[in-house]
Amino acid sequence: RPSDAPLRLAVVGSGPAGFYTAYRVMNKVPNVKVDMYEALPVPFGLVRHGVAPDHPEVKNCQDKFDEIASSENFTFIGNMSIGHPGHSAEHGTVELQTLMRHYDSVLFACGASEDKKLGIPGESTLSGIYSARGFVGWYNGLPDFASLEPDLSRGDEAVIIGQGNVALDVARMLLEDIDVLRKTDITEHALALLAESRIKRVHVVGRRGPMQAAFTIKEVRELMKLRDVAFHPTNRALIPDDPKALPRATRRLVEVIIKGTPDKALGSTSKTWSLDNCLSPKHFLGHEDSPANVASTAFDVTKLADPYDPQSRVEATGETAILPSDIVFRSVGYRSVALPGFEQVGIQFDEQRGIVSNDGLGRVTRLVSDENAQDVASRQMPGLYCAGWLKRGPTGVIASTMSDAFTTGDAIADDWLSGKDFLKSASPSASDGWDGVRQELGARAGRVVTWDQWRLIDAAEKARGRANGKEREKFTNTSDMLAVLD
Ligand code: FAD
Repeated sequence: RPSDAPLRLAVVGSGPAGFYTAYRVMNKVPNVKVDMYEALPVPFGLVRHGVAPDHPEVKNCQDKFDEIASSENFTFIGNMSIGHPGHSAEHGTVELQTLMRHYDSVLFACGASEDKKLGIPGESTLSGIYSARGFVGWYNGLPDFASLEPDLSRGDEAVIIGQGNVALDVARMLLEDIDVLRKTDITEHALALLAESRIKRVHVVGRRGPMQAAFTIKEVRELMKLRDVAFHPTNRALIPDDPKALPRATRRLVEVIIKGTPDKALGSTSKTWSLDNCLSPKHFLGHEDSPANVASTAFDVTKLADPYDPQSRVEATGETAILPSDIVFRSVGYRSVALPGFEQVGIQFDEQRGIVSNDGLGRVTRLVSDENAQDVASRQMPGLYCAGWLKRGPTGVIASTMSDAFTTGDAIADDWLSGKDFLKSASPSASDGWDGVRQELGARAGRVVTWDQWRLIDAAEKARGRANGKEREKFTNTSDMLAVLD
């Protein structure tokens, strides 16, 4: 490789994984140029479109990302996706092969853009069943879901299938006092619909028990503290008699669940919620009068081999339980998908785990049927790396995504500084990065959003928010975002 040429790194995706990996590489490699490609005109991935509006403090990492993006060695290329066709006529697309021709290295940090399905009858035919991803995207202004308009007016009972933190976010949005939400950056259209919501009873349903649930204490506690919302006691048989013997974190979580909402008796509040355990969804049932609408959910009642074992197996008892369901949210996980072009360039996507095949440190590797057939190093695809949810699967918070991204950043820096092969090693001309890509795309580059332009969109959103007494009012479609720049 030309000795004084910088490492040219293309980052695909502007969520925490992309930013923190870029940051690490920029700190470790003295001569590096990072170009970050983002499909939307706006950055930050799930920090903007996933994190709940009433958790503004979680979004503070955006300040760090702004600092990273302000470096002269960093270029943001918004409204430009890799592989996927665009959101609009003004949107650009770069084919993966094109990208790889102009960089030494490509980092895939494009997160998890789909969700897992339950795969049960009625799920895709009845109306009133929504993915948590869609609902979250809708209240957070993700353009793909701007027109979701979930029907919150059909009746009292909402069923959320899944017991992770996303499920609890959805529950909180349904139960929270509308005046509290009004001050957050929730979109106005979501606020208007939630203000009219008829939902009074929220079931958060899991296949197993509270000892096996994926949610964390902060989110449960927040639900217990909601004004005018009571909690239905959880089945005590699923929790050890003496929680004091449990590991500290589990003990504290269990104590919050056992305590419930003693200050708010059932019947005295306008809304209630519960953790409904040992229920595995079986099928959805339509309404008698309007058979196209979901009316209830049938569950297999399950039994835990050991209710107190966090890893306990679960099996069906043969009994069925039915929960009335005026609206259903499926919250059983996000799912990453292969980018168009992966197959052509030989990147293998592990469909079973929903991740790009990698060595655990972020180096993209070829999959072989027998893991021992070749050592990992010889399976590495030079110059290709991954980070975040695409690398590890769709679990973990921003902090864990950050440490994971640092691991990938270290791998990139170590490989570069130790002279390993990168993408341009076969034809060692200097990489020309975004300049080269832009030239090759010509008019197909569409309308690129730079970091300074994102700042204009950001300022416009904040100004709209001020008018409504809130932090920001997001634009929910890409044309409105781009119109700010006209
Ligand atoms: P993402 O944040 O999803 O970023 C991926 C980016 O890649 C996106 O901007 C996407 O538009 C872009 N992209 C995708 N495909 C392409 C392409 N082909 N070309 C160009 N760009 C592309 N963590 C917390 O710490 N606290 C919380 O309160 C919290 N709440 C959450 C709530 C929800 C509903 C969800 C789903 C997650 C939450 N998390 C929270 C977790 C946190 O959001 C994730 O850990 C983190 O965002 C994962 O980072 P990532 O960079 O891998 O993916």
